[in-house]
Amino acid sequence: MLENHKKVLIVGAGFSGAVIARSLAEAGHKVSVIDSRDHVAGNCHTYRDEKTDIMVHKYGPHIFHTDNETVWEYINRFGEMMPYVNRVKAITGNRVYSLPINLHTINQFFSKTLNPNDAKAFIEAQADKSIGEPKTFEEQALHFVGKPLYEAFFKYYTIKQWGTEPSNLPASILNRLPVRFNYDDNYFNHKYQGIPKNGYTSIVENILNHQNIDLKLETEYFEEIKGEFDHMVWSGALDAYFDHQFGRLAYRTLDFEPFYGEGDVQGNAVVNYCDEQVPYTRITEHKHFAPWEEHSESICYKEYSRACGKEDTPYYPIRLMNDKQLLQRYLNMAEQSDGVTFVGRLGTYRYLDMDVTIKEALETAQALLYSFKKDEKPAAFYQAVI
Ligand code: UDP
Repeated sequence: MLENHKKVLIVGAGFSGAVIARSLAEAGHKVSVIDSRDHVAGNCHTYRDEKTDIMVHKYGPHIFHTDNETVWEYINRFGEMMPYVNRVKAITGNRVYSLPINLHTINQFFSKTLNPNDAKAFIEAQADKSIGEPKTFEEQALHFVGKPLYEAFFKYYTIKQWGTEPSNLPASILNRLPVRFNYDDNYFNHKYQGIPKNGYTSIVENILNHQNIDLKLETEYFEEIKGEFDHMVWSGALDAYFDHQFGRLAYRTLDFEPFYGEGDVQGNAVVNYCDEQVPYTRITEHKHFAPWEEHSESICYKEYSRACGKEDTPYYPIRLMNDKQLLQRYLNMAEQSDGVTFVGRLGTYRYLDMDVTIKEALETAQALLYSFKKDEKPAAFYQAVI
């Protein structure tokens, strides 16, 4: 080992931890990655179901989409990405529509045959223009699509998903979804979209497969271990790092109810259930994420969202006003902590897509390498967190 090479501990073997580990390892540093689970890839983990041999997205549907060339090249370096376009169906009021809201959705919902310009004018007439700059999810929806579409597609799905009224949620959550006045029903606007042929877990295993990386699964972090390393990267929950001393940051967790079927159960990978009286948010039929494979049987997951308890897996950071104040206290603590950098969805308490996670991890790794080289103290965060 060269003299200026560091020993780095990375807690968490999801995309953040793995990508940072790889960059540091390639620069000659010695990296230990630990994860409390028995698999890598965090919530992107995929496995082959024993009964059907279908690749299952264990923690819910993950479709890779990005505009970022570097990120796309990076993921393709570690596994074959198959072309895949996510087309979601949504059931509301006992009828099936396509999502995101597009010309077909609008025409079907209102029983019309509008062209793009007329549809735009029609929706604009329904939109609540008294709302200036929309701040909340509800204002954003009423401002852009008006009340009937908001109530049919967004209001109750969002209450089920987030456990709170859309008026309490930030507009940024709705901004994830496009609204289109043509017949394009691609769920994403990004240039690149795909699903890994051999699953996300295989990609993360390949990222971690380097002589300078030592991976230990089913290994809990304990404070004393930190002393054995020059630096630590924490991709676990930010509040967990501080033993939840100010209280718990709020997350939603998901429960999946698997069921089997023959042939084609629902005809699509994802069907959303937007009605209030249906307790689940969506059903995922996993084999449709791999249309290049053939399976006579099928495995589906019914997805339910609820508040994340102490023993549950955290999925979505909620980020209501109270959470932001609490978050600020933890951020202050983190800034004052020596020898640790916080990364990723849990470490920075943000709703991150996979491509953003990889982009930030690559940037964080570069920043860490620079600090190591200059013998400067690495920062606690390399992203704007609030
Ligand atoms: N959403 C909704 N109805 C739908 C789909 C999405 O109201 O049929 C809202 C909901 O609040 C959700 C957000 O839009 O949390 C973002 O949706 P996305 O599909 O990006 O959620 P993810 O797949 O990340 O859970």
